[in-house]
Amino acid sequence: MERRAFMKTAVGAAAAWPVLGAAAPTGPAARRDFVIRGGYVISMDPRLGDLPMADVLVIDGRIAAVGRHLQAPAGAAVLDGTGMLVSPGFVNGHIHLAQTMQRGISTEHTFADYYSTLVLKYSNRMSPEDVRLAEYVGALEQMALGTTTLMDWNREAMTPDHAEAAVDGLLESGVRAIFAYTIAARTPQGSDAPLRRMVEHARSLRVGRLSSEDGRVALGACLPGPDFMPLEPAFADMRMLRELGVLTSFHCGAPIYAQRKKRLIATLAQQGLLDGKLQLVHANELDGDEFRMAADHGACMVCTPEAELHCGHGHPAIWKAARAKLPVSLGTDIPSAFGGGMMTQMRVALAAEIARLNAESFAATGKAPATKAVSARDMLELATIAGAQALGLGDLTGSITPGKRADLLLIRSDSVATAPMLDPVGTLVLQGTPADIDTVIVDGRVVKAAGRLTDARAELAARQLRQRALQMVQRAQQA
Ligand SMILES: [Zn+2]
Repeated sequence: MERRAFMKTAVGAAAAWPVLGAAAPTGPAARRDFVIRGGYVISMDPRLGDLPMADVLVIDGRIAAVGRHLQAPAGAAVLDGTGMLVSPGFVNGHIHLAQTMQRGISTEHTFADYYSTLVLKYSNRMSPEDVRLAEYVGALEQMALGTTTLMDWNREAMTPDHAEAAVDGLLESGVRAIFAYTIAARTPQGSDAPLRRMVEHARSLRVGRLSSEDGRVALGACLPGPDFMPLEPAFADMRMLRELGVLTSFHCGAPIYAQRKKRLIATLAQQGLLDGKLQLVHANELDGDEFRMAADHGACMVCTPEAELHCGHGHPAIWKAARAKLPVSLGTDIPSAFGGGMMTQMRVALAAEIARLNAESFAATGKAPATKAVSARDMLELATIAGAQALGLGDLTGSITPGKRADLLLIRSDSVATAPMLDPVGTLVLQGTPADIDTVIVDGRVVKAAGRLTDARAELAARQLRQRALQMVQRAQQA
C-alpha cells in the first residue's frame, strides 16, 4: 500500500486521514476509533509479549484489543501497520520543559555556569506567556520524538500565573504529563507565606483543571530539596507538600551538588519523610543500602544518562537501583543543553552500563565480560512500562495492554536506517532514528502522522518561540 495513503476507513467510505490526523482549530487532533493492522507489535506487556503481524484496536481512546485479525466496528479508521513496529509511547521521567525557550544556551556550560546563567538570568525572567509557549513547543518536540508521557519539572512556575500558563501549554499540546509545580518561594527572610500561597494554588489546580484521576495532565510537585538548602526548611517544605498527596520530585545524591547531604535517604526515613510519593532525580551516589531503603518505602528514581554523564551527576545508577528493586524512569533533563528524546537516552544508558561492566571485568580479570548482561529490551522497558510504573502511571500507560489509554508509536522498520529489521527491539533501540517515528498517538489522538506533527500551529509556534527567546536574551543582557 502507498505509505502516505495508509489510513482508510474500515468501511472504505470517506478518507479517514483528514479526520483522524487533522488538528482541531484549537488543541490536539480529534479522537476517533481506529485499528492498526498488521504491525509488529512490541507490547511490553509480559502476558502478551511480541506479536508479529498483529492488530491493535482502539475505542474511545482506550486499547480495546490486541491480536490477529481483530474485528473493528463499522466506521473505525484503519492504520496500515505494514512495515511498522508498534510500540508503547515513550515515558520521559524528567524534563525541564520550559527551558525549551533557552535551547542551546547551556551547550558549553559547566554545571556552575548552567545554574548562574540559565537559572538565575533566564528562567527567572520568563513571563507567563513565555512559559506557555515554551511548554507547548517543547511538548510538541517530545511527541515528535516519540514521548507520549512526560514529567515536567517546572521550576519556572514561580507564580500562580506562570503555573496556569504552563498548564495551558501542556493541555494545548496534547501530551500526557505530570505538571510538577515548583514550590520554592521562600522570602529572603525565610518566611514560608509565599510557599503556602503556592500550595493553596496547587490544591485549587488539583480540584479544578487537573482534577480527573485519569486526566491527561495531572498535578505533581517539585522543590529544591535537602541537597540545595539547609535541612530544616527543606523538611518543612516536604511536610507541607505531603498535604497535596502528589508525586513530589527533587534532585539529590549527585557529586556536583555543593550542599549534598551524606546519608540523605536514611535521614529522610528517620524523619518519616521517605514515602511512595517521592521521586529522586539523579541520586547516582547514594550509599548502597539507601537504594534498598528508598525502594522499601515505595519511592522512585529517575536517571537522565546523557545529562548526568556531562554535568557531573555521577555514573547513571540504573542498575544499582534495579538490583534494589527501586523503580526507575529515564529522562532527558535540560533542553537548554540537550535536545532529543528517549531514543538517545536508551542508547546512552545502555552504553554507560556496558562501559561500566566492561571496566569492572577488565579490572577484575583482565578480560571483557563473556556475555552482555544488559540488553536493548531492558532499555525499552525503562523507557516504557517501567518508566510509567515509576511515575505511578503503570495502570494508565507504558504498555500495549487492553484497558490502558492508547499511547502508541508506529516506527518504520523498512527505512534505509531500519531495514532489514532482523531484530525488532534491537532495531528500535539501536538503529531507529527520530525520522523513523512515523505515527505518534497520545490518548487515542494522532499527534504525528506520516512523519509530521498534525498540529497546524506547530511551525508558527516555533517562530514565536524564537522571537520571544531573542527578547529574553536582550532583557537578560540589559539587566
Ligand atoms: Zn533536572
